Amino acid sequence: MKYEVVIGLETHTELATASKLWCSCPTVFGAPPNTQVCPVCLGMPGVLPVLNKKALEYSLKASLALNCRINLFSTFDRKNYYYPDLPKNYQISQNHLNLGVGGYVEIRSNGGVKKININNVHLEEEAGKLVHPEDASADYSLVDFNRAGVPLLEIVTEPDMRSLEEVEQFMQTLRNILLYNEVSDCKMQEGSLRFEASISLRPVGQKKLGSRVEMKNLNSMKAVLKALEYEINRQTGVLDSGGKVDMETRLWDEVRERTERMRTKEEAHDYRYFPEPDLVPMVIEERWLGELRSMLPELPLTRRNRFVEVYSLSDYDAGVLTEDKAVADYFERCVELHAAPKSLCNWITNDVLRELKERRLGIRDFKVRPEALVGLVVMVEKGTVSMPTAREVFADMASSGSDAAKIVEEKGLLQISDREELERLVLKVLDDNPSAVSDYQKGKKTALGFLVGQVMRQSTGKANPKMVNEVLIQKLKTN
Ligand code: ADP
Ligand code: ZN
Ligand code: MG
Repeated sequence: MKYEVVIGLETHTELATASKLWCSCPTVFGAPPNTQVCPVCLGMPGVLPVLNKKALEYSLKASLALNCRINLFSTFDRKNYYYPDLPKNYQISQNHLNLGVGGYVEIRSNGGVKKININNVHLEEEAGKLVHPEDASADYSLVDFNRAGVPLLEIVTEPDMRSLEEVEQFMQTLRNILLYNEVSDCKMQEGSLRFEASISLRPVGQKKLGSRVEMKNLNSMKAVLKALEYEINRQTGVLDSGGKVDMETRLWDEVRERTERMRTKEEAHDYRYFPEPDLVPMVIEERWLGELRSMLPELPLTRRNRFVEVYSLSDYDAGVLTEDKAVADYFERCVELHAAPKSLCNWITNDVLRELKERRLGIRDFKVRPEALVGLVVMVEKGTVSMPTAREVFADMASSGSDAAKIVEEKGLLQISDREELERLVLKVLDDNPSAVSDYQKGKKTALGFLVGQVMRQSTGKANPKMVNEVLIQKLKTN
């Protein structure tokens, strides 16, 4: 590579408050258009905003979790622009004195840990949403103000990322941190987590940054990565042919998979920021901040490393378990009940997560509670049920919510550990498969696996595999 890639991200995340930032309208997603509005969030003349304390609390929690210094005195500013989805014709945001400054996020990069610096974290209000009719020839658009005034946190990084891998790590790590702190539901499909990316290239070794292109309309993490990849190629082409990259804003076209110019630097808006006269400055008490700091949860990366050390899990498994705080909590609850981290981890990362995905459920709503999963795992350990049976029982538990012992009893699924019964099954399989038997006796040891499989099938998965092995070997000797 001749060029070094330089990337910075601006992240918007809707805070998970029950009501909006300046009024008491609800923030429920997907409500019928314009049913969650009032004069305040509709920007009527003469109304006054009143700060939602919960939104400030969530903003502070996020800022602390992102290792920011908190400005104990901060202010709101007006950002002026005229869009149909912004009823006041200005957005209340922060510009001069942001809530959080100078933080960082630790990501995994090249087998080590890298700090991505956070320039600032600030609180602002969401705009409404334009709804364009499906009929492209329609000469109107509709506007839904339900989203107007929902609290929005903006997190701005320094241009510290150097590859797509780092960008992906950053987005995922940041999302996890926000989820761990329960400040946002981070549902990208509902717009509660959105990224804008800035990217420039510079010749390797050059200090000065190249001119940046900012990209908008990135609706998923995949879109961010695809758009960045497209831009790397485009800018490389421009530089290679002796041209210079224009500083501009580009839009990602999801269908055609390319970026297109939206506006150049010259056309950039002048937002005419000025201090918001309708709101007093925020003065944050040290005591409150201390309380919030003491409530911060262990962060995902720290927890992942602890899982590797304390439970001897692979780094990969620990990563899967800690990706979602609720899943990590579920795992630790299971281990607390029964100290078998490795097998519990296997059950959770394979079976539980698969069921959740198929059922589109969060683990908190999953019918198999930690106590029940542990019950099943113990039955496998004791040899009460075989592993294939346990899988079947688990599927039943996931849909019916009843416990393992009850299902096993009702369906007669107890593992066959009765030697006589197994011997009978084994002899029948040996009888039915003379060629496998002679293969085995000629030294082809793989034939044993086949015979074990046959016995398991005959028993409909209920035979104790360890015993089947023993009995088979013994019978093959004497056969
Ligand atoms: P502005 O003040 O014009 O909005 P900022 O300094 O706030 O610009 O930067 C916006 C975003 O662009 C940040 O995420 C920052 O990391 C990123 N950025 C700034 N300069 C560059 C650059 N030369 N190359 C890539 N990203 C950049
Ligand atoms: Zn309102
Ligand atoms: Mg900016």
